[in-house]
Amino acid sequence: MGTLSIERKLVLTIEKKIIKVFNKYFREQRKIVMDYINSHIVEVQKADSDYLNLNINELIDKLKRTQGNERIINNLESLLAKITTDTAKMSLKEILGSFDNVDVFRLVNTEAVDYARERAGTLITGIDETTLEVIREKLIEAIEEGLSAQELADLIDENGLFGEVRSLMIARTESSDAHNQGSLIAARESGVVDGKSWLLASDACEICEGIVDNTPNPIPLDDNFFDADGEEYDAPPAHPNCRCTMTFETTTPEEPTLEFEETLELAESSELQKAETYKPTEAMAKEAKRALKWKAEGKAGGTRVGLARANQLVKRENLSESTVKRMFSFFSRHEVDKQGKGFSPDEEGYPSKGRVAWALWGGDAGFSWSRRIVESLKKKG
Ligand SMILES: [Zn+2]
Ligand SMILES: [Zn+2]
Repeated sequence: MGTLSIERKLVLTIEKKIIKVFNKYFREQRKIVMDYINSHIVEVQKADSDYLNLNINELIDKLKRTQGNERIINNLESLLAKITTDTAKMSLKEILGSFDNVDVFRLVNTEAVDYARERAGTLITGIDETTLEVIREKLIEAIEEGLSAQELADLIDENGLFGEVRSLMIARTESSDAHNQGSLIAARESGVVDGKSWLLASDACEICEGIVDNTPNPIPLDDNFFDADGEEYDAPPAHPNCRCTMTFETTTPEEPTLEFEETLELAESSELQKAETYKPTEAMAKEAKRALKWKAEGKAGGTRVGLARANQLVKRENLSESTVKRMFSFFSRHEVDKQGKGFSPDEEGYPSKGRVAWALWGGDAGFSWSRRIVESLKKKG
């Protein structure tokens, strides 16, 4: 038996190269967009929503011609393949102690290359979709507010759509993904690994900690990890910039066997949890709406889980007992943030990160609401 972790240095070298690929790609796209703005701004200023639906397609088409641009996909594919194949080889060596099975080695290599090829394609498609969506959004803003060419250009730059931070985030996330998938392929084909564990990065966030709390480590190799919201992952990363990795178990983890009564009890209690739901209040919805507005304005604070929560609150979606409990524990843990600078409107730096996160979860109204429910549940026993 043993626990293995895989060397990650190689990933950092390739990461830098991926950043360069995207910097170049985004610079090209930015030029197309800015040229368009400069030559069409008068039209945009006079435009209405019909214009947007008809003529904006011209710009979208131009950008789409860079989409699927073979050069970038090929570059990206070979960089990702370098990570997946090298990681897979290193992992295989660590797991098996040697390379003497040539067939396994070849199989692992082929799968790793295939993975990288597929990923490079879907990645570019996804990135381009986001780009087009943001451009459309900013053009609508320009029309509504009668912006000048320079103002519109600034708006796009402020958004970071073609910025180096976006390149860095993509490169980090993708190299981490390729690394983890490479090691997963090796683990699967080695034939001797049956468990994997999520290994938190030293700077791991709330989402990733939630995964370790929610998933019994190790889990069988082909099972998925779960986060606090029930989102599934076959491997890290859990989100952009996540640097978590995995360790592998080379012996079968013992499955806890439940007695019949225990199984029944568990099934019933989870049924009950499903049945009992709670509708968020209007005040919570209002607070969540404010938070989403802050996020749209680019204010820092909160996690993806917080964003998902705010969207539920705005819609006043019924929440399960376990969600209400998680909300209460979030507020209890973060109450100290109220003492930080920028929590109240009269302070400098308002809204602080803590204030934004607090609002995403429904703010003070959410705190008292979840407390009331948790306390009444305690009384019921
Ligand atoms: Zn994280
Ligand atoms: Zn992570």
